[in-house]
Amino acid sequence: MKLMNPASQLAGQSRLPDVQTTIFAVMSQMAVRHGAINLSQGFPDFACPPRLRELVTEAMAAGHNQYAPMPGLPALRERIAGKVADLYGSQIDLESEITVTAGATEALFVAIQAVVRPGDEVIVFDPAYDSYAPAVQLAGGRCIHLPLRAPDYAIDFNALADAIGPGTRLIVVNSPHNPTGSAFSSEDLERLEQVTADSGAFLLSDEVYEHIVFDGRDHQSLLRSPALRARSFVVSSFGKTYHTTGWKIGYCIAPPRMTTEFRKIHQYVTFAISTPMQHAIAAFMADPSFHLELPAFYQAKRELFRQALANSAWKLLPCRGTYFQLMGYGNISDLPDTEMAEWLTRDLGVGCIPVSVFNADGRDERILRFCFAKDDSTLEAAAAKLRALDRDPAVGPGPGE
Ligand code: PMP
Ligand code: GLN
Repeated sequence: MKLMNPASQLAGQSRLPDVQTTIFAVMSQMAVRHGAINLSQGFPDFACPPRLRELVTEAMAAGHNQYAPMPGLPALRERIAGKVADLYGSQIDLESEITVTAGATEALFVAIQAVVRPGDEVIVFDPAYDSYAPAVQLAGGRCIHLPLRAPDYAIDFNALADAIGPGTRLIVVNSPHNPTGSAFSSEDLERLEQVTADSGAFLLSDEVYEHIVFDGRDHQSLLRSPALRARSFVVSSFGKTYHTTGWKIGYCIAPPRMTTEFRKIHQYVTFAISTPMQHAIAAFMADPSFHLELPAFYQAKRELFRQALANSAWKLLPCRGTYFQLMGYGNISDLPDTEMAEWLTRDLGVGCIPVSVFNADGRDERILRFCFAKDDSTLEAAAAKLRALDRDPAVGPGPGE
């Protein structure tokens, strides 16, 4: 019997039938197409530290151009362990508990594949970063979506306690939180410890913005709590910290037995991560001043952007961490947020991200996300365009349009 070309059948057999191209690619491409100021996808428009770039060149010149060890360069894992000890008071064994990955994206994906089995429930909080749910779906698990509510987007721990059951395999948390800019307090950490204490659930903690926390707060890493740490994969990314999102280097910290399972998958997803880059980051981390000064650096940008839009029709929500500012536009238009984001990108010339795409139920609170990891001049130019919307009624899509 002659079988049909399998490619002709594939769309109807998709492993991820409801997944479309990620909003970050869609909105960034739209911004480029229309020549808009791109505050959509989260990446800096300024350079990484020149010394870090030189260190990559030096590593290449020194011959560090072959495969790195599968779990990551020991020198880099040593720096990571040192940083975690300094900041969170947690002792991590670099041999058995740290794996360097191709960005946080790989770490999140691999951690989910390592523990989620067909039929398992995974609790996620919406709005949720968009890579969690597809990874759960590929593992055969089922997401239980709990809402975070404006303006604070804090976890409702009573609702979490009610949602945790015998089928709960994994709980995914993210602080500082993309897209909302919320961040855990020390009480949140205590409550998380209480409500998970008697459960059999693992935790996956996405902490890629660990060094971008404002107003004198400390980052509440799950690594601070021995009880949470014992059941957690903690994921971070150098892309956010060193203005190098294009390098795609991150890491996962987890107890030895969890790391063993994690590495079984990591070794067949990427095996190892770019060697000269790992050398460069390890050398650069010898001086912690860069990441210690990062909160002040980004807080100044947050202030600049917020002040430029103060007393405007835009409603600025609190931003405790990350480099994202949420803004409500209920006073400007009642367009759905996806259409408003497209209009702003195409017609006003400022790219942004609609928040409803991070809600599994499509909940739309007429709120948009703007990335302020940009040069001051970029932020000023974007704010001037956004302000024009409330100064001139002729500018804008208009209510109900
Ligand atoms: N998690 C969150 C919350 C993010 O915002 C991002 C990306 N920016 C990632 C994970 C992925 O990080 P990476 O670019 O290191 O893969
Ligand atoms: N994390 C970035 C953001 O939130 C984008 C990452 C990506 O493009 N995959 O904008």
